[in-house]
Amino acid sequence: MKHIAYFGGTFDPVHSGHLAIAREVTSLFHLDRFYFLPAYHAPHKPDRPPTLALHRYAMLCLATAEEKRVFVSPHEIEKNEKRYTIDTIAELQKKHLHDAVYFVMGADSWADIRTWKEWETLLLTSNHIVMGRPGFPLEAQHVTDPIRSRIIDVRGSSSFSRQDSPAGTNIYFTDAVHSAASATNLRTDLRDGSLDRTDHLPLEVANYIEKYEVYR
Ligand code: ATP
Repeated sequence: MKHIAYFGGTFDPVHSGHLAIAREVTSLFHLDRFYFLPAYHAPHKPDRPPTLALHRYAMLCLATAEEKRVFVSPHEIEKNEKRYTIDTIAELQKKHLHDAVYFVMGADSWADIRTWKEWETLLLTSNHIVMGRPGFPLEAQHVTDPIRSRIIDVRGSSSFSRQDSPAGTNIYFTDAVHSAASATNLRTDLRDGSLDRTDHLPLEVANYIEKYEVYR
């Protein structure tokens, strides 16, 4: 059995926070593969159409080229339509019938989880890893008791043993990454020309953005 994680998001653009999550989660949870899963269009962010999926996909591939266990999944963007996480998760679980699959999100997504389609089913039927994010306290008052009872808090641990987890699906809280990087802030800085290129943007991604004028 393989242990595989999928990290959904817009990745507009991918930044150092996303990459740190890929590395730390792969290591902490002893994963065989970690997939970035760019959304065709984030259904819960309807106010702003994201940058073309092919640009976001290309930036992710450039950013992860050197990472052996980190991949980019075209699963959602290939569909060419808005996808809901609950539907994608069902498809991915079918695809990995004999593997343990984990879905990764940041603390801001966790705080908003009740706005997601069929959020209770989603949280009760698959494994999730929730990463702390500065400014978004990692709490559980907004979820139901059955969901809360599945939370395993591994904050403060630099190692994790799967054997200690109860059977069934779990929701893991971790603070292995402390990153203030934000795609929204990066886009603002890129548009007004105030970005320090060493700040939160991998060099290959910064070069791609400049060459293809992605945020002009
Ligand atoms: P935006 O600033 O536009 O919301 P973002 O930086 O959050 O963008 P997304 O592509 O929306 O980037 O994020 C994908 C996932 O990564 C989300 O689950 C989000 O919570 C998580 N994430 C992004 N940045 C961080 C960070 N610095 N620390 C922890 N989680 C993060």
